[in-house]
Amino acid sequence: MNVRAGSASDIGQVREGNEDSFLVLAPLYVVADGMGGHRGGEVASSLALETVQRMFQAQQGTLAEQVTEANKAVFERSQQDRSVAGMGTTLTAALVDGDRVHLAHVGDSRAYLLRGGELSMLTEDHTLVHRMVMEGEITEAEAETHPHRSILTRALGVDPSVQVDETDVQVASGDRLLLCSDGLTGMVPDGQIREILETTSDPQDAVDALVRVANRAGGIDNITAVILDFDEGGIERSDTTEAQVPHQATVERTAPRVEPPRRSDITVVGVPIPEPPPKARSRPPVRADSRAPARRGRGRRVGIGTGLTVMIGVLAFVGLRGYLDSQWFVGVSNGRVAIFRGIPAEVAGIGLNSVVVETSIPAEDAQALPFYRELGDGITAPDREAADAIVQQILDDVASAQPAGS
Ligand code: MG
Repeated sequence: MNVRAGSASDIGQVREGNEDSFLVLAPLYVVADGMGGHRGGEVASSLALETVQRMFQAQQGTLAEQVTEANKAVFERSQQDRSVAGMGTTLTAALVDGDRVHLAHVGDSRAYLLRGGELSMLTEDHTLVHRMVMEGEITEAEAETHPHRSILTRALGVDPSVQVDETDVQVASGDRLLLCSDGLTGMVPDGQIREILETTSDPQDAVDALVRVANRAGGIDNITAVILDFDEGGIERSDTTEAQVPHQATVERTAPRVEPPRRSDITVVGVPIPEPPPKARSRPPVRADSRAPARRGRGRRVGIGTGLTVMIGVLAFVGLRGYLDSQWFVGVSNGRVAIFRGIPAEVAGIGLNSVVVETSIPAEDAQALPFYRELGDGITAPDREAADAIVQQILDDVASAQPAGS
């Protein structure tokens, strides 16, 4: 099977750097989308690809093992270098082997197959909204516009180990494979991607067209696309043989401007979300602390000492379980900022909460800031969405507090 590839990575319209990287190293093709404040994203995505490339060229391990090693490399770097702490990256890789393509995938970059005019997605997004769709909490349509659609449930480099999705696809002559970052899929609907893939025969022209359309739609994120065209014909086509890890675009910082919506650097660390209680949320809101939702996500602490007695009284009426399941707060778990269900208190030594997600944000970074000093006591939130917003706010505040130029 001959493969013709096209590839492009673009900074987009609003970002100040390109945190995406890609690798075209026939028969291996990879896209990675980094995240993390202060160049962390660029370091994460390029380090991941360098690791995969090095092992691939040395013929070490399977594709999944190479990705696992990339996870370790990014994680270790982020542990050693404070300026990139908490960084991570998505990674979607395709290794062509005859008429089979092995895919390895972590995060929300995607692989699609165009066959007979039909576009099908070959990867599953490791995002919070995808999980919410799976659990029936929101619809696919709601997921597309959800404010937290970029929150990842899995990424490379945030934990010492990572689960890598693997898929094998049989390809035939005429098939076209697309690997891309969410800067494309977040801006351009699948229908339009399909149309461009269907009507633009040259793979390089097609990736260029995809990038153009994403930029025209706003280009709020970095855009990366790699296309592989499969052809059984006898004509040997030259593959691109050298690695193309895009250099990190550098754009001079100009006047401060309004931050565009951007990928959240929150990574949920493999803690399963407990089954939502049946209709717990439809109960009338009973809260001992019924203050307004956190202003701009910066929540306030619940007054545990004063409220507890009242609260226990309330619990007796409402039913402990249902009540706790409808409560949320942001606190600290294993040294990281985490979202809890329940209340930040215990009765007779029994905790009245459970961790729902543990982010990659070190709690000490947050607690170094005056407004989060008592994060350990918990910041209450009226619902899950508000808890996510608080975490986002913490992340933004931590990121902007990082000394620039370190
Ligand atoms: Mg992106």
